[in-house]
Amino acid sequence: MTERQRRTKILATLGPATDPPGVLEDLFRAGVNVVRLNFSHGDPSGQAKRAADVRAAAARVGAEVGILADLPGPKIRIERFTTGKITLKTGERFDLVADPNAPMGDQNQVGVSYLGLPQDVGPGDVLLLDDGLMQLSVVEVQGPRIVCTVLNDGVLSDRKGLNKQGGGLSLGALTERDKELIGIVAKIGVDFIAVSFCRNAEDMNEARRIAQSHGCDAALVSKVERTEAIENLTEIVEASDVVMVARGDLGVEIGDAELPGLQKKIIRESLAQNKVVITATQMLQSMVESPIPTRAEVLDVANAVIDGTDAVMLSAETAAGAYPVRAVEAMARICLGAERQFETDADFSKAARNLERADQAIAMATMFLSEHVGVRAIVAMTESGGTARYLSRFRAKAPIYAVTRHDGARRQMAMMRDVFPINFDSRGLTPREAARGSIRVLVEANLLTGGDRVVFTSGEHMETHGATNTLRLLEVGPDGRASGLGEL
Ligand code: PGA
Ligand code: MN
Repeated sequence: MTERQRRTKILATLGPATDPPGVLEDLFRAGVNVVRLNFSHGDPSGQAKRAADVRAAAARVGAEVGILADLPGPKIRIERFTTGKITLKTGERFDLVADPNAPMGDQNQVGVSYLGLPQDVGPGDVLLLDDGLMQLSVVEVQGPRIVCTVLNDGVLSDRKGLNKQGGGLSLGALTERDKELIGIVAKIGVDFIAVSFCRNAEDMNEARRIAQSHGCDAALVSKVERTEAIENLTEIVEASDVVMVARGDLGVEIGDAELPGLQKKIIRESLAQNKVVITATQMLQSMVESPIPTRAEVLDVANAVIDGTDAVMLSAETAAGAYPVRAVEAMARICLGAERQFETDADFSKAARNLERADQAIAMATMFLSEHVGVRAIVAMTESGGTARYLSRFRAKAPIYAVTRHDGARRQMAMMRDVFPINFDSRGLTPREAARGSIRVLVEANLLTGGDRVVFTSGEHMETHGATNTLRLLEVGPDGRASGLGEL
């Protein structure tokens, strides 16, 4: 029998550091479950090539790897400097010019991409550049020119991001470029689409309508990274399949001291609404340059696991770092350690509420049985992955082997904590044959062995045998064949 498998999933951003031949395979062997293609960088054809490379490498390694396309969103950036970068000193005047014809930047001013910025700011507002490394205070607005005073010494270089402290920039989440990109990523065939800087449920609904108009059924990820998203958190989670705690921009807008509380709140709200949740940004930041993480980073990753996150994300650590594979190895090791030391009690608080649907009742009973009878695993036949998602929200002790022949469903389930997607085609089989067949696959994969008990559920519409909501307690025989245990 294999050792305990890691339950928390790893999302790794691809970039120049992951492009050399063989790196993707190494990342997948080290435990990457989902990759992120960041459409803020590089051109779409380069990202499409990465997606094809991911599919090929995953097939070679035999891993189920999801692909997430991250839309740029309305990230505001300054334009370029004639010298590439400048050095600013506290107290100096420095202007931002929201004019498409502004000259290249110099020591006194630089252009800014968002032409509505002068309308959204006023005297006293603090503008944060380069994730807050450079801070400017607005003195006054003169037409397209925003006159500022520099609040700290530092260097400012080309195309750095800009946020307003406290939020309140009025631009919408989905830019024209984002809308166009949804069509492109639909063609690439990604499994997840992330909406950056979403403000409310309507932003997510709009993205979903556009994706569907392209025949794309990718899971939609809301990136919670601006003040407005916190105010509308409940409705945003409701309109999302997956939620990302996007700590980079969120920390800049809302203040770093608010982050620990918000991370816990966003994870709790996502799980309560049966949604999948990712914790992102700077988790192992020092590993961009160092082969080992800092102790603080180890604790940060572990704490996200204890908070109940489904997945943890690597950004520059894998995309542009010196040690992409080591970063994944470190993440896998830390997650596993945290899971081992802090085994959570399954959460049955949902049982206190009335269940609206039969499949939810079956899922509840499945989890109750798995916790109280003591089983090696839960085996769930699923079509879309919905059953697995619901089961995994309980954070029960037993792993969930989610069985489906649908490639897209398996890759979406790769993001779910406690869920291990298994490829098995049950078409044409009776329920009994499907149970036996899928358990045989698990025995052959060394995930189950003779004497193991499992809870087996086929709670969704199985193609050939209808929507029979069944729940069975099975035991794997010494010969690897499963048979019923008790009369359930
Ligand atoms: P980004 O999103 O890396 O695309 O900015 C994540 C974050 O802001 O934390
Ligand atoms: Mn961001």
